[in-house]
Amino acid sequence: MFNFLIIGAGVSGSVLAEMIASQLNKKVLVIDKRNHIGGNAFDYYNESGKLIHKYEPHWFQAAEGDLKKCNSIPGNANHELYRKYKQDADELGNFLFCGRLADYKYYNIDPIVARALMLFDQKIISTK
Ligand SMILES: Cc1cc2nc3c(=O)[nH]c(=O)nc-3n(C[C@H](O)[C@H](O)[C@H](O)COP(=O)(O)OP(=O)(O)OC[C@H]3O[C@@H](n4cnc5c(N)ncnc54)[C@H](O)[C@@H]3O)c2cc1C
Repeated sequence: MFNFLIIGAGVSGSVLAEMIASQLNKKVLVIDKRNHIGGNAFDYYNESGKLIHKYEPHWFQAAEGDLKKCNSIPGNANHELYRKYKQDADELGNFLFCGRLADYKYYNIDPIVARALMLFDQKIISTK
């Protein structure tokens, strides 16, 4: 029997799972649609010993003709899908959003960790 379900084993989900388990001594189930933890920050060593970042930036053709790397920028269709998901989630009383998918923006890892710790302090610790 679990006390918390965390959907997504990225940095946010992993930090929250660790805090809930170690600080509150509660049982946490973490699930992910991928077959590894770490989310978009996941990396691994290939057979030649090179460290590979699995989720490469996307490439786009700049106006000047150069190929440039960038992180994916959500378009209108994705924003609409996100709005529907958020509305559904808001209707569930005890459902908390965290991480970059919580408001569909790019964040570096340090603010992602800070947001997870803030959510823990402000919303989760009170469930103790
Ligand atoms: C190419 C690239 C380079 C980056 N470089 C840097 C850098 O140099 N420095 C830095 O600080 N940050 C960097 N970042 C940002 C960093 O990766 C993110 O801040 C961090 O990974 C966000 O963590 P998160 O847990 O919020 O989201 P994510 O890492 O996206 O984790 C979300 C998890 O949820 C899972 N998930 C989503 N939907 C579902 C579902 N419906 N059911 C089950 N599981 C689901 C996903 O599979 C994923 O594992 C980079 C990001 C990218 C893409």
